[in-house]
Amino acid sequence: MKKLVLASNNAKKMKELNALLAPLGFEVIPQGALGIPEAEEPHCTFVENALAKARHAAEYSGLPALADDSGLCVSALHGAPGVLSARYAGEPKSDARNNEKLLAHLAGQTNRQAHFYCVLVLVRAANDPQPIIAEGEWQGEILPAQKGEGGFGYDPLFFVPDFGQTAAELDADTKNKVSHRGRAMQTLIERLPLL
Ligand code: IMP
Repeated sequence: MKKLVLASNNAKKMKELNALLAPLGFEVIPQGALGIPEAEEPHCTFVENALAKARHAAEYSGLPALADDSGLCVSALHGAPGVLSARYAGEPKSDARNNEKLLAHLAGQTNRQAHFYCVLVLVRAANDPQPIIAEGEWQGEILPAQKGEGGFGYDPLFFVPDFGQTAAELDADTKNKVSHRGRAMQTLIERLPLL
C-alpha cells in the first residue's frame, strides 16, 4: 500500500477517502496520527489554501499528502462566503448562525444562484512542482428558509433543481455521488495513475 497523509482530521472525510482510495492501493493516514499540527489557511482562494495544507503535511511527514478545501459561493454576493464559509458569522463557527447571516444578506434579492465548490490537491512531496488538482462544482439556489434535516453546513438552504430537493433532504449516498466533493473525488481518482 502507498501511504498518503490526509491534511485533515475530519473522521467523515477520512472514511469517505479511504473507501475510494484503498481499492487503488492507497492507505490514507490522518495528519493528527503523525502529530502534524493544522496548517494556516490565510489565502483568498480555495486552491491556494488546499495547496498550503497539502504542502505543510508533506513537509512534516516526508510522505505524499492530500488536502481539500470547499465552500459555498453565492453569485449575488460576488462569491461570498467562499473561503470563509465555515466561519462566515464569526467564531465560534456555527452552521445555524452562518445560515441566518446568509439569509439576511440575501433578503430581497431575486438572484438566488449559488454553487458549492471543492478542490482536492495532492502533492507527491512538499516541493512537488506539479500537484494533482481536482475540482468539483454543484449548482443550486438559496431558498428563503431552511428545509430538510440531513447533511451539514448550508445544506438546508441549498436547493438542487435536478432533484427538486435541498441538499439536506437528499439521502447521504446520493449527495456523496453528485456533490462538489463527490465530483472532485471522482476526478482525483481518474488522475491518480499520474502519480
Ligand atoms: P471544509 O472545506 O470542509 O472546511 O468546509 C468549509 C465550509 O463550507 C463548511 O464548514 C460548510 O460551511 C461549507 N460546506 C462545504 N461543503 C459543504 C456541503 O457539502 N454542505 C454544506 N456546507 C458545506
